[in-house]
Amino acid sequence: MAELVFQQCIDPRCGGTAALSDTTFACPKCGGLLDVAYDWNRLPVPKSLQHFESKWANRADPLDFSGVWRFRELFPFAPESAIVTIGEGQTLCQRADAVAAYAGLNAGGLFLQYEGMNPSGSFKDNGMSAAFTHARMTGATRAACASTGNTSASLAIYCAATQLMRGVIFIGSGKISYGKLSQALEHGALTVQIQGDFDDALRRVQEVSRQLGIYLVNSVNPFRLEGQKSIMFRVLEALRWEVPDWVVVPGGNLGNVSSFAKAFRELAELGLIARVPRLAVINAAGADTFYQLHEKQGLRWAGGRFGRAQVEAYYAALDAGDRHADTLASAIEINRPVNLPKALRAMEWCNGVVRAVADADILDAKAKIGAGGLGCEPASAASVAGLRQLVREGVIDKDARVACVLTGHLLKDPDETVAYHSADRAAFDAKLGKRGVKSVGFANRATQVPNDLAAIVKAIETSA
Ligand SMILES: *Cc1c(COP(=O)(O)O)cnc(C)c1O
Ligand SMILES: [Zn+2]
Repeated sequence: MAELVFQQCIDPRCGGTAALSDTTFACPKCGGLLDVAYDWNRLPVPKSLQHFESKWANRADPLDFSGVWRFRELFPFAPESAIVTIGEGQTLCQRADAVAAYAGLNAGGLFLQYEGMNPSGSFKDNGMSAAFTHARMTGATRAACASTGNTSASLAIYCAATQLMRGVIFIGSGKISYGKLSQALEHGALTVQIQGDFDDALRRVQEVSRQLGIYLVNSVNPFRLEGQKSIMFRVLEALRWEVPDWVVVPGGNLGNVSSFAKAFRELAELGLIARVPRLAVINAAGADTFYQLHEKQGLRWAGGRFGRAQVEAYYAALDAGDRHADTLASAIEINRPVNLPKALRAMEWCNGVVRAVADADILDAKAKIGAGGLGCEPASAASVAGLRQLVREGVIDKDARVACVLTGHLLKDPDETVAYHSADRAAFDAKLGKRGVKSVGFANRATQVPNDLAAIVKAIETSA
């Protein structure tokens, strides 16, 4: 009899499969990406999503406490005894009327799914708990990733908190925020900095992992994407199981968007939701491969028959022009997204669109999100900057109900935030000006006052 859970090539014409325990993370027939696949006919499926509310009363059980694993029936690849959790997924989905107004939506229309509350401060923990679980099932003792920062922070914290694995982190010599690097170092991961950008680091980590048999936790690992489905389950939960009209998410390696589409597709197939939301993926303008290919060149999934030669030609042109990804939003500074085929499929499944936004717009949106009460890093704010653009274009209706995913915490990169709000032109230029940001819309400058009571009182009274 066929396996209950296995790995399956995403190309329906290929038919390649791999065992649940396989850690190659490439189709054995065509080398393409794999999905985790389930024989739902032989697995217990809840009758409705309300079923998951019963877990709230059972918080003493770490599996029900976890914002990832309380939904484990929707990605049942692990026996409960193997599950690794450090309490991830205790996140907020906050109605944000002030940010809605900025984006052009009606009050009550915007919800910010704030993933900065995870143990390592980004959404990556949702996926890492799932990857660690799979790694444990396969007996791995070392795990590696290439990272623009948050994957390494997450890997490091899971290694430290569980003591199950030794973490090996590859970072490029390009931008990595100090907050993220400090996490990798503080939590004791072996950190290897190679000369080159993220795309180079990712190629190397895949080679090294294969050669040394180290478990790979980059988002080419389909088990990570299973864990990230829970971000959408929590959005639905917060919306009392009503599907929003749109989900807007920043796009880097395109793991999140791929995961979200799979989540909605499966929920629809299982009869747990009546329709899927539309998806909007937001690139930074300086790292806009997905935008260029999907929107400008019209590349489509086409049941797996998408133009692979077209993608190769695009990458060849990048190389020929020595064009590297370049944006302040370091978490999405990626020009060769490993999950591109899955993301194309996601666009087809969820009638998606892709946009690219300038760094200056990202920073303004970030300041507005912060003024609205949630602190996020630049990459996260791309979602709101993209939403604003899509409302202006009329693609997203101002009456729509929208969930924007804020992928990481403000304090990942405080330098950028301080530079944005700084009145000190040198500080601004050092961090932002040299990156092409000319001015900022919503700077909250510190007020300079002499050390004098009357002057201080006057400064306070005249400001408010
Ligand atoms: C990893 C990351 C992203 C990009 O997510 P993908 O799944 O790679 O598209 C966006 N924002 C933050 C904060 C991240 O850490
Ligand atoms: Zn295949």
